[in-house]
Amino acid sequence: MIANRVAVIGGGYAGFAAAVTLATAGRAVTVFEAAGTLGGRARRVEAYSVMVDNGQHILLGAYAQTLALIRTVHGAGAEHELLDRRPLCLNEPGVFRLSTPALPAPLHLAVALLFARGWSWADRQATIAFVRSLRRERFHCDPALTVGTLIDGQPAAVIRALWEPLCLAALNTPVAAASATLFLNVLAASFGAHARDSDLLLPRVDLSSLFPEPAAAYVADRGGDIRKSVMVNGIAARPDRVILRIGYSEEEFDAAVLAVGPHQLTHLLSNGERDPRAILALVQVAAFAYEPIVTAYLQYSTPLELEDPMQKLDGAPGQWVFDRGQLDGPSGLAAVVISTDLPSMHMGHSALAQSIDAQLRRLQPSLQAPTWMQVIAERRATYACIAGLARPAPGMIAPRLSLAGDYTDPRFPATLEAATRSGVAAAQALLQASG
Ligand SMILES: Cc1cc2nc3c(=O)[nH]c(=O)nc-3n(C[C@H](O)[C@H](O)[C@H](O)COP(=O)(O)OP(=O)(O)OC[C@H]3O[C@@H](n4cnc5c(N)ncnc54)[C@H](O)[C@@H]3O)c2cc1C
Repeated sequence: MIANRVAVIGGGYAGFAAAVTLATAGRAVTVFEAAGTLGGRARRVEAYSVMVDNGQHILLGAYAQTLALIRTVHGAGAEHELLDRRPLCLNEPGVFRLSTPALPAPLHLAVALLFARGWSWADRQATIAFVRSLRRERFHCDPALTVGTLIDGQPAAVIRALWEPLCLAALNTPVAAASATLFLNVLAASFGAHARDSDLLLPRVDLSSLFPEPAAAYVADRGGDIRKSVMVNGIAARPDRVILRIGYSEEEFDAAVLAVGPHQLTHLLSNGERDPRAILALVQVAAFAYEPIVTAYLQYSTPLELEDPMQKLDGAPGQWVFDRGQLDGPSGLAAVVISTDLPSMHMGHSALAQSIDAQLRRLQPSLQAPTWMQVIAERRATYACIAGLARPAPGMIAPRLSLAGDYTDPRFPATLEAATRSGVAAAQALLQASG
């Protein structure tokens, strides 16, 4: 099979990682994206004439694939203008502070834990011993283990200040159900090799400009075609081609990468794909549960007085606040994030925004009432990264169909890095299969 003309269905980070890989290999790529803006679950939205994102995102130094792709589409030196990189710092003023010093790994983590503010001496010793035991086990555990069981017996103050927030931020799943294997994979990627891997990278540009849009330009420059606001309604794989159903017409390609969200896969394969690999993938995604993430944007008329652009909150109701003014955004613009299905998720948007405003004004009493507030709730932000969950792998699910998407990466939980890794893997599998 020679796959010269390849359709990529889904213009999120996974779809564009696949498209860039295929275009680099000389394939004629057509990307179909149902929405008018590229980026999927990581995209630009407009709020009160200000460009924000559908959700505040954090990247890690360990996101090797995503960073490599950003360099490919923007050029080598662009990373520093696009991303604010700083050493890991978890700071809840007056309660807890942990920051990694400029030392080689794993010393940087040991010193950070040793000097963490807000913990007793016994808390710090117990945490250092626990991390050491995780390293001894090479960050491996029984796949059925939950994060809750993994951290059982750790000091309550450490669970509250460190393990629970890290698990929510990384897996968007409560510790009681979250997969310890995926959690340990994130810890291993962040703390297992180089100190820079645990750096926090906060976008200085919107998430569509960070990768999907320059990736679209990269693909177009190599003869590709980007079709926005075009929904593919079905796909049928034949021995010699794939047929895409679009509205009332059909288009033929040599092969396709399916890079839609897990809950969108069934619709795409509704023509009854009979390959056992495709059937297994459909059965597996049917068992997924999903977790929401809410981001509230609040514009104040005066600057926020945060020490760092990202600060932990007390959870009543916001969990993290980001100062977009420190990230090349408008001065006084706060982005407040709440992960997973908490009671606050079920409040009306206006009540939730007011409650977050009150929370921020407890933190900084000098703030006046915001000039505008916008709550964006992503109900299916990520699949729930539950312990023991069976998931499809990226790659061929039928002779001419390759699967990508954040939910297919075996190593990372549902993140930008999982998405880009899966897209590259799906494209490579297709290139290998097509010779
Ligand atoms: C609010 C929020 C906060 C997050 N925070 C972080 C974070 O801090 N760090 C991090 O690393 N990750 C974070 N994530 C997760 C990250 O955004 C996702 O893991 C990643 O964007 C998923 O990319 P994807 O390409 O696999 O899927 P998607 O982004 O869902 O892309 C799928 C695309 O396919 C399109 N599509 C679907 N069906 C069709 C069809 N039939 N025809 C044409 N197009 C179709 C969709 O419109 C969509 O654009 C967050 C997610 C959300 C929602």
